[in-house]
Amino acid sequence: MTETSPARPANTGVRQTRPRTEGWTQKKDAEGRPLLQFASPKRGKPPVHLADMTPPERVEKVKELGLPGFRAKQLSTHYFTHYTSDPAEMTDLPAAQREELVAGMLPPLLTEVRQLKTDRGDTIKFLWRLHDGALVESVLMRYPGRITLCVSSQAGCGMNCPFCATGQAGLTRNMSTAEIIEQIVRANRLIAEGGLGGKKSDDHSMERVSNIVFMGMGEPLANYKRVMDAVRIMVADQPNGLGMSARGITVSTVGLVPAIRKLSDEGIPVTFALSLHAPDDHLRDELIPVNSKWKVDEALDAAREYYEKTGRRVSIEYALIKDMNDHGWRADLLAEKLNERGRGWVHVNPIPLNPTPESVWTASTREVTNEFVRRLNDAGIPTTLRDTRGKEIDGACGQLVATTEDEAAAAQLG
Ligand code: SF4
Repeated sequence: MTETSPARPANTGVRQTRPRTEGWTQKKDAEGRPLLQFASPKRGKPPVHLADMTPPERVEKVKELGLPGFRAKQLSTHYFTHYTSDPAEMTDLPAAQREELVAGMLPPLLTEVRQLKTDRGDTIKFLWRLHDGALVESVLMRYPGRITLCVSSQAGCGMNCPFCATGQAGLTRNMSTAEIIEQIVRANRLIAEGGLGGKKSDDHSMERVSNIVFMGMGEPLANYKRVMDAVRIMVADQPNGLGMSARGITVSTVGLVPAIRKLSDEGIPVTFALSLHAPDDHLRDELIPVNSKWKVDEALDAAREYYEKTGRRVSIEYALIKDMNDHGWRADLLAEKLNERGRGWVHVNPIPLNPTPESVWTASTREVTNEFVRRLNDAGIPTTLRDTRGKEIDGACGQLVATTEDEAAAAQLG
C-alpha cells in the first residue's frame, strides 16, 4: 500500500508506505487510538531475591533467617562474583543451614527453556520461563573486546508499536529487579563455563558480560524503579553488585519524556538511546503510538537535556524501513532537528531492518540506506549503521517474542 505523504507537500509523488499491523489486530482505546498500557497488570509477584535488596537489607534478611549478618556478604560473593546459586558450591557456609539460607536468599527466578545459537556460537538467544509461566528472552553477543547482553525488562510490552512482535500481546507484567539481574548472572555463568564461542587469541578482554543493552522485551522506562535498581546493582562494586561500568549500559526508550528527565537526574552516566524511527509527528504518531503523548520535539528536548546533565552523548536509533521512513527529506529533517539543539551531543544509529518481501516492514535498499547516512553525516551528525547481530534468530530489537513453539517447549518443562 502506498500513498503520497501529506507531511511534505513539496514532495508529492514520493512513495510513502504507511505503518500497519500484519497478521494481528492492534488493540485500540476508547478514542480509537492504539492502546498504551503503562500500569503492570496485577499478577503474583516473583519471590524476593538477594538482588532485590540493598546490602543492609541483605544483612537484615540473613539475620531473620537465624545467621550472623556477615553471611550476606558471602552469599553476595557467590552470586555476583562466582555466578552461582548452588548451595553445594558454597562450602564456606555452615553445611547445616546452607540449603535454607540459599532457599531464602537466592530463590530460583528463571528457568531456561532453551538456547538458540548462531554466528558460529558467538550469539546465543536464551528463552526463560518466569515463576508465573511468563516467557522472556535475552541475547548474548560476543564482539571483539566486549561481550554484550540484550536484556528484557518486562514480560510483553504495553507500547503497542505496530512493527513489534513483543508489543502484540500487550504487557504481561513488569519484571523484578532480580529477574533483570539474573539474566546477566546466568549469562556470566555460561561464559565462565566456556559456553560462548568465538574468543580470538588476541582478545584479552575479561570473560564476562561487559555491555548491557535494554533492548529486549519491554519498554525499560515504563518499569522505571526496578530497571534503575537493577542498573545500580550492575554498577555497584563486587561483591555488592556486578562491578560493571555505567558507560557500557545502554538504556533505551521510545520516548517516555518524564522518565527521561528523571533518568538525567540519577547521576549514573549510562548511555541513553532514543528509539526515534521518524523525525515527523505525522509518521511517528502511527509508528510509535506513545508519540501521541510526547511528540518528537519533546522527546528530542528531553534527550538534549540528558546530554547537558550527564555529558553523555545520546544515541538516536532509527530502523530504516523501505518507503516508510527512509526518504532523503526525512534524513534532512532529522539533521535539522538535531542541529537546532546544538552540535556534538548526539549520534544516529540507523538499523537496517530484516528484509521481509511482501511486507510493509521491509528493509530499505542499500542505495537508500547509504544516501540516508550520507545526508546526516554531511549535515554534521555522526551517523553509523548499526550491526544487526542476532537477526537470524529473531533476536534483533523489536523482534523478541515467545512463539507457539517456545510456549510448547516451556510447557514440556512441567
Ligand atoms: S518496539 Fe519496544 S516499545 Fe515498542 S512495543 Fe516493541 S518492545 Fe515495546
